[in-house]
Amino acid sequence: MTAAIYQDVHTRLPWQNNFTQLGERFFTRLEPQALPAPYWISRNQAVARELGLEPAWFESQAALESFTGNQTPAGAEPLASVYSGHQFGQWAGQLGDGRAILLGELATDTGGVELQLKGAGRTPYSRMGDGRAVLRSSIREYLCSEAMHALGIPTTRALCVTGSDAKVRREEIETAAVVTRTAPSFIRFGHFEHFSYTDQHEQLKTLADYVIDKFYPACRDAAQPYAALLEAVSERTAHLMAAWQAVGFCHGVMNTDNMSILGLTIDYGPFQFMDAFEPGHVCNHSDNQGRYAYNRQPNMAYWNLFCLGQALLPLMDDQDQALAALESYKTVFPKALEARMRAKLGLPDMQADDSALVDNTFKLLAANRVDYTIFWRRLCGMTPQRGQEPLRELFFDGESFNAWALQYSERLTHVDSALRADLMLKNNPKFVLRNHLGEQAIRGAKLKDFSGVDTLLHLLQTPFDEHPGHDSFADFPPEWAAGIEISCSS
Ligand code: AMP
Ligand code: MG
Repeated sequence: MTAAIYQDVHTRLPWQNNFTQLGERFFTRLEPQALPAPYWISRNQAVARELGLEPAWFESQAALESFTGNQTPAGAEPLASVYSGHQFGQWAGQLGDGRAILLGELATDTGGVELQLKGAGRTPYSRMGDGRAVLRSSIREYLCSEAMHALGIPTTRALCVTGSDAKVRREEIETAAVVTRTAPSFIRFGHFEHFSYTDQHEQLKTLADYVIDKFYPACRDAAQPYAALLEAVSERTAHLMAAWQAVGFCHGVMNTDNMSILGLTIDYGPFQFMDAFEPGHVCNHSDNQGRYAYNRQPNMAYWNLFCLGQALLPLMDDQDQALAALESYKTVFPKALEARMRAKLGLPDMQADDSALVDNTFKLLAANRVDYTIFWRRLCGMTPQRGQEPLRELFFDGESFNAWALQYSERLTHVDSALRADLMLKNNPKFVLRNHLGEQAIRGAKLKDFSGVDTLLHLLQTPFDEHPGHDSFADFPPEWAAGIEISCSS
C-alpha cells in the first residue's frame, strides 16, 4: 500500500535517496535557493496520486514552499549531480545539474521515484547560468511531459509548477518558476561520459553497476553485463525514437547530456509537435545547422549511443563488443517505427508491403505539407466507402491523395473495420501540445491567469478522447503560430 502522507510532511515522506550511495564524486550536496512569495501555477493530481501524496497536504503552504525550494522536507538530501556531454556534436566537458536540484527518491507502490526541482537556484555546475528557469519554459516542460506520458511515450513527468515574481534576465526580463519533475532516475548518457573522460573508471563501474542493478537487472546475467547494458539502452532508445517520429515530436536539443539512460524523453526545451509535416523541420531556433531536425533524430540518437558506447569501453573487453551491442538499435528502430505506424494506419497484422505503404504515406504528407496530427485523426474516420473528402481537402495535390487512398483502401480489404477504428483512435491523438496552444496558456499565466494551463493539462492527459466543446484546441494552428521562435533560452 502507498504510504499516505499527512499534514506533517516532515516525518512522513518515505525518502530512500539511493543516488547518494554512489558517493561524493557524483554530486554536491546543497540546499535549493528560496524564491520570494511563491504561488501555485498548476498541480498535477495524477502524479500526486502515484506518489501517494495526501491531497490536503498537496494544497498546503508547506507543499508550496517545499516544491519551490523554500524549505527542504525532512529526510530529503538535496544535491546537484555532475555530468558531462557532447553538445551539438562537440565535446563540451563538464556540465552537470546547473539549475536542477534532486530532493531525493520516494518509495511508491511502483518503485522508487526521484523528485527534482528544476530552476531551484545556482549549483557548482551552473557555469555562467543563474540557476533559474523562466515561467514560459517551465509551463512548456510541465505540460509536455504529461502530454508525452498520456501518448504512451516514455518520459520524465511533472508534479507541479510554482512561480514567483522574482525577476529573471533572458532576452528580456521574465519571472521565475520551478517545475517539480519526477523519474525513476535522471541519469543521462553524460553521467557515464563524465567518469569515462576524466579517467575515473572505478566510479564509471560503480555507476554502471548501480544502473544495472536498479533498472536493468537482466544484464547482470549476461556474459558481459556492460555490453548488455549498452544493448538494452540502445533498444529502449530505439523505441523512444520510434515513438517520437510516429507522433511528429521534435526534441530540439538531443545532446548526450539530454539523453536518459532509461530511454525517457528528458529536458524539454525548444521541443515541438509538428504542425505541417516537414521532414527537415528544425524546431530549435538556435540550431543553425539543423543537426536535430525531425528526420535526423533517429540518426542523432544512434550517434549519442555511440558516445555512450565509447564511454563504456573501459568496462568492456574490446571495441567490437560495444559495436555489436549498438547493432540492436539498427534492427529495433525500423521495426518499432513500422509497428507504431501500422497502428496509426489501423493495421492490426503485418503484411509484406506495409513498409512501402508507410513510406508512401510519409512522402505524401511531406509533398503536401499536410497538418500531421489532423491528417491522422481524420484518417480514423475514413473507410474505403466514405470519409475521404475531409482528408482530400488537406492536400493541394488531390491526385496524389487519390492514388494513395486507393493503395490504402486495398490494404484495408481484409481488415476488420471495428478493430481498425479502435486501434486508430488509440494511436492518433486529437490533442497535442502545439506551440501556439502552449503560447496561449503562457500568455494567460504571465497575467496570473493559470486556468489555461489546467485546461491544456486536462486535454493532454486524455488526448485520444473527443472532449466536445474543445475542438478549437484540435484545430489548425493560427497564422501567428509560424512566427513563434523557440530557442535554447529557458
Ligand atoms: P540544457 O541545454 O537546458 O539541457 O542545459 C545544458 C546545461 O546548461 C546543463 O548543465 C544545465 O544545467 C545548464 N543550464 C541551462 N540553463 C541554466 C541556467 N539558467 N542556470 C544554470 N545552468 C543552466
Ligand atoms: Mg539538459
